[in-house]
Amino acid sequence: MDIGAEMYAQAERMYPICRSITGNGVRETLAIIREHIQIDIHEVPSHTKVFDWTVPREWNIRDAYIKNEKGERIIDFKDSNLHVVNYSVPINKKLPLEELKAHLYTIPENPDWIPYRTSYYDDTWGFCLSHHQMQSLEDGIYEVFIDSDHSDGNLSYGELLIKGETEEEILLSAHICHPSLANDNLSGIAVLTYFAKYLQSISHRYSYRFIFAPGTIGSITWLASNEDKIDRIKHGLVVSCLGDAGNPTYKCSRQSEAEINQVIEYVLENSGGEYSIEKFSPYGYDERQYCSPGINLNVGLLERSKYGTFPEYHTSADNLDFIQPKYLQESLELIKNIISVLEANKTYINMQPKCEPQLGKRGLYSAIGGDLDKATKQLAMLWILNQSDGSKSLLDIGRVSSISFELLHQTALLLEEHDLIK
Ligand code: ZN
Repeated sequence: MDIGAEMYAQAERMYPICRSITGNGVRETLAIIREHIQIDIHEVPSHTKVFDWTVPREWNIRDAYIKNEKGERIIDFKDSNLHVVNYSVPINKKLPLEELKAHLYTIPENPDWIPYRTSYYDDTWGFCLSHHQMQSLEDGIYEVFIDSDHSDGNLSYGELLIKGETEEEILLSAHICHPSLANDNLSGIAVLTYFAKYLQSISHRYSYRFIFAPGTIGSITWLASNEDKIDRIKHGLVVSCLGDAGNPTYKCSRQSEAEINQVIEYVLENSGGEYSIEKFSPYGYDERQYCSPGINLNVGLLERSKYGTFPEYHTSADNLDFIQPKYLQESLELIKNIISVLEANKTYINMQPKCEPQLGKRGLYSAIGGDLDKATKQLAMLWILNQSDGSKSLLDIGRVSSISFELLHQTALLLEEHDLIK
């Protein structure tokens, strides 16, 4: 199987599980991730204070339905876990259609789709159904049943640190709280899982911290419990919506000049494909927490189609047909490219800064192989030597010189070998 198909297969296995911000669905999902990579699974007790928030009680659900007067299950949680408003309180009662309707949610503009709704912090219940299903409901008495519970338990999240040559970290984070939704949630989990596997096969200078946590409350919980580690995180990405046919979309981290923003701009510019880059905004996924002013990490958001902009978003149409192995694969390759530039984008210091060092006596005039002409290679050396005063990275030098990052990277390695920069 190719990697795209493997990531798709992982998404396929996770798809039927009823996830939420807490509960057994999250644990089952973490267990599937753990079959691939050795994440640690953390359990944080309900009622734990995490900054201005409190870890909620744990939610679990076993069954739910609406029955008509004939006793037929006309809406059944077992057909789709989107049918129940996520975090619904238990209910078991009979009520007339008019009263029931106050608890039903549909999407009139896409009448065959079931919406995805949550009610984490209000004690309420509800059902989601297609608009066609709703229109077919006749007057009468309905039986509603939700076998769920909110109990003192835990919030679960997964974490993996893959150590590099330095303690400086790159944070990669995906939310794991959506039930049967493929692009928004499962695509990000699958791509990060396989990126972690890939990282374990190469050498790297950064250490990489992977966080698989429920949206919002999960990243807040991690940040509140790990304030001592925040300084080590130099760059980061939140990922979501990585499996659809759309082009890459990147939302910059809060500090617009951050290296991660520059690197991704460079990689997308040179990808040969269409893409879009957006400025930071305080709405979206967990980058909102990582980029809050008191945390202020350089964490951006990488997606294909942007959340909220495609009609399938947060509906039953964000299913396994909406994502494809080849797009998961493209997203994985994109992350690999971003990381390879970040890994190589060092800031050097010229060790012979007083006038130009004599390159000829070191045999450096024709030392770089390949097809590029001698003059460009020499120019690359001169640019690096001139700009490497500790304030400019290779990417900065690429910008002012218009020399490709790859050539600058090769040239820097060569100059380093000859002790001209470090
Ligand atoms: Zn979502």
